Amino acid sequence: MTIHLYDTFKGKKRLFEPLRNGEVTMYLCGPTVYNYAHIGNARPAVVFDVLARVLRRRYSLTFARNITDIDDKINQASIDTGKPIDEITAQFITAYNDDMGALGVDMPDIEPRATRHVEEMIEMIGVLIDKGFAYEAQRHVLFDVTADKNYGALSKQDLRAMIAGARVEVAPYKRSPQDFVLWKPSASELPGWSSPWGRGRPGWHIECSAMSKKHLGETIDIHAGGQDLVFPHHENELAQSTCAHDGALFARYWVHNGFLSMDSEKMSKSLGNVLLVRDLIENIPGEVLRLALLSAHYRQPLNWSDATVYEARKMLDRFYGAVRGVELVADQRAAGEPPAPFINALEDDINTPKALAEMFSIARELNKASKDAERKALAASLLAAGDVIGLVQEDPEVWFAGDSNGELSTEDIESLLQKREDARRNKDFAAADA
Ligand code: AMP
Ligand code: ZN
Repeated sequence: MTIHLYDTFKGKKRLFEPLRNGEVTMYLCGPTVYNYAHIGNARPAVVFDVLARVLRRRYSLTFARNITDIDDKINQASIDTGKPIDEITAQFITAYNDDMGALGVDMPDIEPRATRHVEEMIEMIGVLIDKGFAYEAQRHVLFDVTADKNYGALSKQDLRAMIAGARVEVAPYKRSPQDFVLWKPSASELPGWSSPWGRGRPGWHIECSAMSKKHLGETIDIHAGGQDLVFPHHENELAQSTCAHDGALFARYWVHNGFLSMDSEKMSKSLGNVLLVRDLIENIPGEVLRLALLSAHYRQPLNWSDATVYEARKMLDRFYGAVRGVELVADQRAAGEPPAPFINALEDDINTPKALAEMFSIARELNKASKDAERKALAASLLAAGDVIGLVQEDPEVWFAGDSNGELSTEDIESLLQKREDARRNKDFAAADA
């Protein structure tokens, strides 16, 4: 089997072939660090963590997930709270990594921060001006979209129609409404860096172009992110990088995850309908949240509800219940190979629902098996699958005892069962059901 990925640019599933034999580079747009991550933000982190694990089985992977620590929302948070910017970003970088760690997300190989790459951004902006793709106007530097004949190719938009239909208020210094900011001036109270265009700060899009070039080179194999980033963020990254590098291909595969919604509305900070990972992990084990995020195919929308979490918990209970009581010595555990259909599913455009169904069918076989050797082999295989997808990492006894995640303990459950029994005996069915 080979790896296939759906490529947004080509609009179809394609055989994955890296630029260099045996080596893969992947860049994921990471968080803007001014508040806590919600469960929607965790979807790309978890999905592309699974992709990273799948790639690492076959290739030497260099995976970069950046930190956007220059942003007007961060500046605003500093004004609102009176806290220095560095303190805010440090706090939320740690919180993000802790929260994703609780969901079993491995740290990327590189976590570049925008504040540490301003020099590279200034250099790239200079190149874009020299090559005629950017212009300076009123202490701003703007990318001239009309100079890039491929602008709109990723998001499948026609530039002329975009310009004609532009409804945004056009800043007077822009030549076309779609021109976007590479550099803007900073007032003295805002963070700023000196540059050939005066003291200022970079636009968001140039951050990723400069950081991906520095750490992964001009051409990266996989560029990943949420679907909302296709336009304008990725379209603009693509324009900047391709034009700065004389047309060199920027990303060989563009991979985007679908949105997580709640009550049919996209979960987002601006709508205010967010469930923070930080709050959810108080009561729900990280593995349950991780499985819930992987329960739908990553390109499909995922509706988050109590039922999503309940189903995920039930499935994990099945996995843990199956391996419980099967005594494996270290060698037997290490010898476990994930089942081929499970790996095939993950290598086929990260088909996690199918992969989970394969784990489920091994658990069922294991429950039915009676011979010790067969049970051990199936348990080792199920655990090996768990290692790839990042689930069933705990001791089953700890899992069922209810651990420090605020789970119900066995005693709590028995006491609740007793209460239900008593209520039934008293014909108080409402209380029993509750
Ligand atoms: P933000 O902090 O809003 O820039 O989002 C960080 C990452 O989370 C980006 O890759 C977004 O595409 C992704 N994201 C934000 N909201 C959701 C959501 N409701 N469902 C899935 N991904 C999301
Ligand atoms: Zn980016």
